[in-house]
Amino acid sequence: MTMRTTNSVVHTEKPQEARTNKYFIVRVPVRAFFLGILAWIVVLNSIAQETFVRFVDVDGELIAEVPAQHQGEQIYLPVDAVKEVFDPDMTDQYNHPRKRLTLKTKGKQIRVQIGNAVVNIDPGGQTHTLPTPPIIIAQQPVLPITFFTQVLPELNNLEAIYNPSLQRVQLRPKGTWTPTVTDDSANWAIIIDPGHGGADDRGCESNTGLLEKDIVLTLAKQLQRISKQQGMQIYLTRQTDVKKTHLERIQVAKRNQGQLFLSLHCNASFSPYETGIKIYLNNPKGQLRFPSNVQSEPIGQRLNILAQANFLKQSRDFAHALQTELNFLTETPIQIAELPLLALSEVYMPAVVLELGYLSNVEDLEKLSNAEYITSVAQAIARAFQRYISSTNPSVRATVTEQ
Ligand SMILES: [Zn+2]
Repeated sequence: MTMRTTNSVVHTEKPQEARTNKYFIVRVPVRAFFLGILAWIVVLNSIAQETFVRFVDVDGELIAEVPAQHQGEQIYLPVDAVKEVFDPDMTDQYNHPRKRLTLKTKGKQIRVQIGNAVVNIDPGGQTHTLPTPPIIIAQQPVLPITFFTQVLPELNNLEAIYNPSLQRVQLRPKGTWTPTVTDDSANWAIIIDPGHGGADDRGCESNTGLLEKDIVLTLAKQLQRISKQQGMQIYLTRQTDVKKTHLERIQVAKRNQGQLFLSLHCNASFSPYETGIKIYLNNPKGQLRFPSNVQSEPIGQRLNILAQANFLKQSRDFAHALQTELNFLTETPIQIAELPLLALSEVYMPAVVLELGYLSNVEDLEKLSNAEYITSVAQAIARAFQRYISSTNPSVRATVTEQ
């Protein structure tokens, strides 16, 4: 704005020159043009640098949003972020000549040296080596994000999960999702049902050739590995790329006295904009909306539907546990829908269908093609198992009825 005013002043003051000397007329816009470009670069730079790391609690509620600095692949946070996230009473001292930063928090003294990855904690003489050392940016000492995801959670008896793609750190009380509940979970038989399989039933397919049947099997096997370490017994309805009927899948669940059934699928849509994880559970009331259907079923079938109603609350609880854990992987909250579901019919235990994303959507496809993402989904589901199991009243869980 000020630039324009100056220009018009120049023009009105020297109309003669402006008309006669065309170089002058040209020079002013050129200068304005370059100043404009410069202003844009400044704006773009500030946008590029103005990223934030969000810290959330166990329920996903925001604790603090702190500005982040990027240096190459690394993310650094200001020292003040320690106050915002962990301890408002933290004090810090920076010794410029020695490049030494001392933090006092929760009765501990943490000493770090710029350019040195070793963190010293007293009293106790503990040391911790960070993957990257603290550095100086804009004459201020900054700490690598690992200081916030490893050192500080440890001191505060917390655990942290860092989602780099969302720049989000979740802090939870220690033991929330490492298996301190193995006594409980060891008795649990969980059935994972990777949808589809075999040459005839590939499920959805992406334009890059990624197949639903392969994604869900990879995930199921990872889940089995992770959960075994946590003492849960996980049974898969198929171990390889084979076709299995619905009945065969249910038989796996029955044979192993499953107490929880998770069916894994992917989505596809004609709309490339359809996106995201979806959680479905089988609501028998949804089925009873079609009374003529129900009446035409043999009596045994009707009883089965009623038997499933016994598990609706538990299915909802598990769906919510999944939602809470998987929300951590996405920007948009995951929805739970209750529908009459063929995939879960005659499954006599709490059961949920998890749709991992749309193979027809570019962003979803990119995620589902990424092995690290699949691992983080597996970890989230394993945490959901723990969350669900620990919330379940043991006396309720032996109510699996034979049909
Ligand atoms: Zn499917």
